[in-house]
Amino acid sequence: MDYPRLRLKKGKEKRLLSGHPWVYRTEVDAVRGPAEPGDVVAVETHRGKFLGLGYYNPHSAIAVRMLSQDPKERIDALFFARRVEEALLFRLRLFKEEETNAFRVVFGEADFLPGLIVDKFGPYLVVQVLTLGMEKRKREVLEALVSILRPLGVYERSDVEVRKKEGLELRSGYLWGSFDPRIIIRENGLSFVVDVAEGQKTGHFLDQRENRLALRRYVQEARVLDCFSYSGGFGIHALVFGAREVVAVDISERALALARDNARLNGVGGAITFLAADVFETLREFAKQKERFDLVILDPPAFVKERETLAGALRGYKDINLFAMKLLNPSGILITSSCSHHLSEEKFLATIEEAASDAGRRLQVLERRGQAQDHPVLLGYPESRYLKCFILRVL
Ligand code: SAH
Repeated sequence: MDYPRLRLKKGKEKRLLSGHPWVYRTEVDAVRGPAEPGDVVAVETHRGKFLGLGYYNPHSAIAVRMLSQDPKERIDALFFARRVEEALLFRLRLFKEEETNAFRVVFGEADFLPGLIVDKFGPYLVVQVLTLGMEKRKREVLEALVSILRPLGVYERSDVEVRKKEGLELRSGYLWGSFDPRIIIRENGLSFVVDVAEGQKTGHFLDQRENRLALRRYVQEARVLDCFSYSGGFGIHALVFGAREVVAVDISERALALARDNARLNGVGGAITFLAADVFETLREFAKQKERFDLVILDPPAFVKERETLAGALRGYKDINLFAMKLLNPSGILITSSCSHHLSEEKFLATIEEAASDAGRRLQVLERRGQAQDHPVLLGYPESRYLKCFILRVL
């Protein structure tokens, strides 16, 4: 074993032993051997027992991200190829190409590739590199992706703030080939335009795919309000599944332009209205005007980015859920999500319960849902379970 050795403080191995992939800076006792930021190190208990290999960043609060528990592992191009292949083979079992040809191939730590996100949109890939260790191995990672997935092109969307915590700049642009960044994908048998260059995150919120499909049982003849609609994913599914009418609200004109294209693409352009507005204001306005809906979807961006802002975020969640309930006809359906991993499912549900109490409504929980299966939840790594989605009957 010729990797530099990083020794933990006494008793700090417990989390790692139960599968958590991070060593915090405060848990590091000493590093023996020359380890540059981004290098692979062998992590050991205080007594010198091998725990695993990971890459090191002394400038980040997360000093090591674990890559392997095998002391003989070499972290090279072949290693990345094996990991990517394993992740891909599992995804191929989940989807029928003719129904869904866009999915997350690599979900970072949960796929044992910390700091790496890879989304496949038809024959193209979008890559997001979140850590210094991965940034330093981008060439090997790209080689692995190209040789295994044989894409027509790869686009990088590393324009995310968390990179700053790793001492990295934000970056986006072509990594491999050049192509029209507006890609048409299939999802649940529907078609969507994804703009991988200008769209939000990697271009499309793949994690809600299964929850969009779940709409099917609740939308017959329904009047639907799709809040935080982005490119129209939920609302367009609702119309294709038999809803009578959809109102889609998003604060971004650009998102709504995509949604308009998507509605047309699926032949439902005539039944959907778009509103470029703040959902918080729209819900209040609709309540005042006594607008009524049979189904309301709430899919806000993460209100809790840091643990410290939890209280304010909870007020936000309570507010939109409360007003959504006021707009629902008796026995209406509320589909409500939170993608903040700092907010537990229990706390989110408690917030919804409070909102119901204030609105004078009773709730039945029809479905407790989470993120799509191509975003696996790794036990021992609670950060990987971030999306909560409840389907509720509002009485
Ligand atoms: N439901 C979407 C994803 C939503 S992402 C889907 O299925 O694809 C969150 C969206 O909320 C973004 O499009 C963002 O533009 C929008 N947004 C953020 N804050 C908003 C606000 N206060 N009012 C309305 N839209 C908002």
